[in-house]
Amino acid sequence: MTALLDVAGLEVAFGRAKAVHGVSFALHAGERLGLVGESGSGKSTTVLALMGLIRPPGRVAGAASLDGVDLLALAPAAMRRMRAARIALVPQGAMNALNPVLTCGAQLLDLMEAHGALPPRTARHGWMEGVLGRVGLVPSVARMFPHQLSGGMKQRVCIAMATALRPAVILADEPTSALDVVVQRQVLRTLRDAQADLPGGGGIVLVGHDMGLMAQFATTIGVMYAGRLVEIGPVRDLFADPRHPYTRLLIASLPSFASRHRFRGIPGLAPSLRDPPPGCPFHPRCPVAGPVCAVDEPADTVATDGRRVRCHYPERAADAA
Ligand code: SF4
Repeated sequence: MTALLDVAGLEVAFGRAKAVHGVSFALHAGERLGLVGESGSGKSTTVLALMGLIRPPGRVAGAASLDGVDLLALAPAAMRRMRAARIALVPQGAMNALNPVLTCGAQLLDLMEAHGALPPRTARHGWMEGVLGRVGLVPSVARMFPHQLSGGMKQRVCIAMATALRPAVILADEPTSALDVVVQRQVLRTLRDAQADLPGGGGIVLVGHDMGLMAQFATTIGVMYAGRLVEIGPVRDLFADPRHPYTRLLIASLPSFASRHRFRGIPGLAPSLRDPPPGCPFHPRCPVAGPVCAVDEPADTVATDGRRVRCHYPERAADAA
């Protein structure tokens, strides 16, 4: 099956700090890829690079093909035309993403006008009703300012803006941060419904750090550490049989009734991106590291079942937690 979005060897650097290092993945129609990892692991930077939003002195390299076009090679004007129309962003923190002095309807119409797709005046009311209705909002929200809406409603307006031009790919950067648990689930359901409504089923990349929430939303999980995609695979397989010790520890850190209110963290700190340790960047924290781990960085290896992992000893992952 041809991928909607094919990312190959993505690199993002800020001076000596490599924020994203050799990230590759393919996103297919109907797929929801969850990118998880600790803060600073490169998840959000990956998404911003794909949107062409890394500003100098940041440097981006690699390739990201959408509709046969390499997003990373596009001139700024061409990238502006792709944004929202073919690849859209649901930003982190809807509180700050919307313009506080414009009504939500005016912001939606501005977006359409910028892409030469403004609905005719006579059809505008019905169009607005449809766009807001698809994300579970009533038409009167169009006349409201962002400060008149709850956090969950603002995030739905952001989803309405991201889907208004029916893009092929939606990148959602921690869209549920700062929302309570019930609203988090509602927002993710809205995102899933919005995806089903996209032509051809669309594809979503969701950035987050909550493995539990990801398990309920994603069809594929990609685990990031120190700018690398260290493991990627179908959500069920990855939870049933994690092959990277870091993935194993992330799953073990999920609270459960059996853990009787005791939370298990991952000892140690994420490495400096300016000065990462030699070999596998996880080796100072890895409970199953061997001598080679401090010397050689493991390659991105594809198993016979198609799952990928960056670890010298994937068979030891079960002993990590
Ligand atoms: Fe641990 Fe070595 Fe695998 Fe890195 S390569 S995760 S240090 S076992």
